[in-house]
Amino acid sequence: MPTSTPQAPLIMVGGGHAHLVALRQWIANGQRAPAGSLLVNAQPYAWYSGMLPGLLAGRFTAAQCSIELAPLAAACGMQLICDELLALDAHNQAILLASGKRMGFARLSLNSGALPVIDFNTDGSLPLVGAKPFPGIVQQWRTWQAQPPAHLAILGGGAAGVELALALRLSLPQTTVSLFCRHALLTSHPLRLARLARARLGKANVKLHEKLPIERISDGQLYSDGHAVAQPDAVVLATGAAAADWQATSGLECDAQGFIRIDAQLRSSHPCIFAAGDCASLPDTPHAGVYAVRQGPVLAHNLLAAAQGSLQHYQPQPRALALLACGDGRALLSYGALATQGRLAGQLKDWLDLRFMRAHRLPVQGD
Ligand SMILES: Cc1cc2nc3c(=O)[nH]c(=O)nc-3n(C[C@H](O)[C@H](O)[C@H](O)COP(=O)(O)OP(=O)(O)OC[C@H]3O[C@@H](n4cnc5c(N)ncnc54)[C@H](O)[C@@H]3O)c2cc1C
Repeated sequence: MPTSTPQAPLIMVGGGHAHLVALRQWIANGQRAPAGSLLVNAQPYAWYSGMLPGLLAGRFTAAQCSIELAPLAAACGMQLICDELLALDAHNQAILLASGKRMGFARLSLNSGALPVIDFNTDGSLPLVGAKPFPGIVQQWRTWQAQPPAHLAILGGGAAGVELALALRLSLPQTTVSLFCRHALLTSHPLRLARLARARLGKANVKLHEKLPIERISDGQLYSDGHAVAQPDAVVLATGAAAADWQATSGLECDAQGFIRIDAQLRSSHPCIFAAGDCASLPDTPHAGVYAVRQGPVLAHNLLAAAQGSLQHYQPQPRALALLACGDGRALLSYGALATQGRLAGQLKDWLDLRFMRAHRLPVQGD
């Protein structure tokens, strides 16, 4: 891809959690991006993942769970471009967008998230609905509300799988919901949290299948170890994070899974390209929103200070608070070895989520 015009001093790709925090910090500090800087995002708004299960449970509206990006960008002196990055040529410092536009940049920041993992073969006989990108699953959920499916299978034994199973059982009461876990449930959480989650799922009538990896979908059936194990109407993928294809061909150094390797300054193998959140790879930094949020302030500083060279370092938090929404206002909570559940945990989750939304939402013109 040749270097192209127009040339922007800074392009930020993806309205992910880290970019939201960075933009908000610039606004709070009265800082602005260099004139002519751009924010590129696939949609005009950013979704806040912590509240998506609440939306699918019927507790929140879509407007409550999303943030308009144009006012944030404008307050930082940037223009929002609703477009999708298709390719990055790190060497020539240029990006190609889905609209066909090519743009050059002096500095680039990537916070474009990840896609669900698809580690099984499929003949295409069942619709696959990724837990991400969020607009797709929200759209599908609206269709299901009008025409409830008889049976939904959710793949993924992590926090997102548990939250989605509980949410969908609540908002689609006629639908049988099965949750398939490759390993045991919630393996990266304390054993007690997994026990509490099993009890919750049982109470909600979610059919839980642990250590049952789905290897193949054919003729409308899910297969594990060569046997048909379910015949759902659709499959929801809460299977963790996979890297977008364009990352591996970008010329940036990536890890074995295709995530962009960054250093503690959130800088990639190219000195002018930064990355944060799920699209990036940094030791001891899981792919989770809470880590992306903490990278935001460091990114805010480093993107403006990069020319002077006085960069800050991001230190991943040794443990993070996990709050899994049960869909009914309750939540499962874990922090280090501690695990509990209940309405108080649910209130804490709502308070933290709504506080994040209040802090990052700017009034849209005309509000
Ligand atoms: C159901 C569910 C619940 C979750 N709950 C939690 C939780 O409670 N706490 C937690 O820590 N984590 C949670 N997660 C994980 C969390 O969603 C991710 O770790 C987090 O969103 C990563 O944030 P990010 O900043 O990397 O980017 P994202 O929030 O994923 O945002 C990426 C943005 O980039 C845009 N984009 C993507 N590709 C392109 C492109 N090519 N061009 C332009 N724009 C693009 C997208 O439209 C999106 O706006 C949850 C995940 C799911 C599926």
